[in-house]
Amino acid sequence: MKLPQSEKAKKTLGILGREFPGARGTLVFNNPLELLVATILSAQTTDKLVNTVTGTLFRKYKTASDYGSAPLEEIERAIGRVNFFRNKAKSIKGCCRMLADEWGGGVPDTLEALVALPGVGRKTANIVLGNAFGKDALAVDTHVRRVAGRLGLTASDVPGEIEKDLCAVIPKTLWTQTTHLFILHGRKTCKAKRPLCGECPVRELCDYYAAVNKGGKTG
Ligand code: SF4
Repeated sequence: MKLPQSEKAKKTLGILGREFPGARGTLVFNNPLELLVATILSAQTTDKLVNTVTGTLFRKYKTASDYGSAPLEEIERAIGRVNFFRNKAKSIKGCCRMLADEWGGGVPDTLEALVALPGVGRKTANIVLGNAFGKDALAVDTHVRRVAGRLGLTASDVPGEIEKDLCAVIPKTLWTQTTHLFILHGRKTCKAKRPLCGECPVRELCDYYAAVNKGGKTG
């Protein structure tokens, strides 16, 4: 008998919670501004590389005004090792200029205000809300999207819809943790190209696994 989606989500998160006790994000930051900058840098780049770049970056630029008033080329040079550094430099500068002009240099703690900043989408906003402000926020990155889809917790491929589907069946207090758990599970087991279904602790709950096995294959 098919489990209701909320039951399936609860069981999945229980199992993944035991698999990854104390799961948390891996970007290094000391305040909301640093996390905002690090998250912008992390698009299609590993957290490990971002952390090696932000060590120096955060010593040089301490306030939103520091970024907002710095020449674009200088920021580009400082982050030159990450993918798409030109676009990211533009986003960081534009976003920090708005923070300095409209928020007194602080980072707002609402989704609406965060997504109004240049270069900041829902994923980045939710990461900042969940991790720098301790709010309940579910961020959909590439791992969350893939894991949720394979498990059958969403039929959508659109991040905003996936977020809605997950938030509808997962208790609010677990939203931030869901992001961490799905990211860790996606990196370790539910890999993009070849998921390691045979050793997956949530395979009995997974639609993808059920479909593959029905076809006579194992993961
Ligand atoms: Fe991913 Fe396979 Fe586990 Fe399903 S069974 S969640 S596809 S690794």
